[in-house]
Amino acid sequence: MVSIPECFSESYAEARAKFCGAAATAGGAIKSWLNPNGLGPNGEKLYLDTARFGAADANRMLVMISSTHGVEGHCGSGAQIAWLRTGGLAKLPKGTGALLVHAINPYGFAWTRRVNEDNVDLNRNFVDHDKAYPKNEGYLALADALLPREWSMEGLAESQRVLDAYAQKHGAFALQGAISGGQHTHPDGVFYGGRKQTWSNRTIRAIAREELARTHRVGVIDYHTGLGPFGHGELICTVPPTAKSFARAKAWYGKEMTSPETGTSTSAVVTGAMTDAFPQELPDAEVTSVAIEYGTYAVPDVLNAVRADNWLHQRGDLASPLGRELKADMKERFFPAGDKWREMVWTRAYQTIGWALKGLAA
Ligand SMILES: [Zn+2]
Repeated sequence: MVSIPECFSESYAEARAKFCGAAATAGGAIKSWLNPNGLGPNGEKLYLDTARFGAADANRMLVMISSTHGVEGHCGSGAQIAWLRTGGLAKLPKGTGALLVHAINPYGFAWTRRVNEDNVDLNRNFVDHDKAYPKNEGYLALADALLPREWSMEGLAESQRVLDAYAQKHGAFALQGAISGGQHTHPDGVFYGGRKQTWSNRTIRAIAREELARTHRVGVIDYHTGLGPFGHGELICTVPPTAKSFARAKAWYGKEMTSPETGTSTSAVVTGAMTDAFPQELPDAEVTSVAIEYGTYAVPDVLNAVRADNWLHQRGDLASPLGRELKADMKERFFPAGDKWREMVWTRAYQTIGWALKGLAA
């Protein structure tokens, strides 16, 4: 009997070892991509690992990605390992393969951050960097409040006044959108989309071309945490409702699929989502993507942890007691302790994978 909670890991290094072990046991072809831009907190090298299963010319591929938002990789990695350990491979229909992408943002995973080594939110980085960036007026008004000089009672109270005033005027969801929708103006801020393609961005594109060039139908599940009810996995489609892949996602996931653009999601509309890379790199394939977003804690608590983590890396001291306290909070907000949440994650992942495989086969 496979213990589901034990499929999850407390650190990036533990997750990587477990993933590569489980993938090797299951007979996967493993490839490792070294991130050249840094090391983990214990000096460990940072790798993105892929494991491929099924025939080389598989017509249909299920792609599962963990750690687009670094720390959220505790969840995605656990789901990937649970899939491997519970015999997911044996349930793949004939002609369908699987590609598991483990720790697409290994830096963020290792350092308990959402962002990567450039302070970039990977899920805002897949915009066209040759074009004008989307504007985020709200962020301009909030930038100073989001990165206070001091993480002190007075500094935080002042910040809170600014955020509360914004919410009072525009609504709480508009505040969430202004903070989390993405911005390209403040490299030291939160939800920063960057001004060029990051290493993870270039690497996932190379992986798509290398592993999926001969695949006709691709189903992508990208694992996230931090929004929605505790343990529930919301299936978010981030493409515009006019896209063909939107209709496909609707056919695969039915009313369980939500859309930020139509206002049915707990997520704000974001630009530059990572999964956009797949249709761009595979123009001849039918790509159907969904982000599975698992709830943890209330939105203000989650956003506050992100803000605190950003302050810590910009202006604080990671080794201080406050630094350790903020890091522990960051981890808990995106990876709640205890077995229940992990078991709920896998139950919903299992269900979603089943729907994706049905969709791929239809
Ligand atoms: Zn996320």
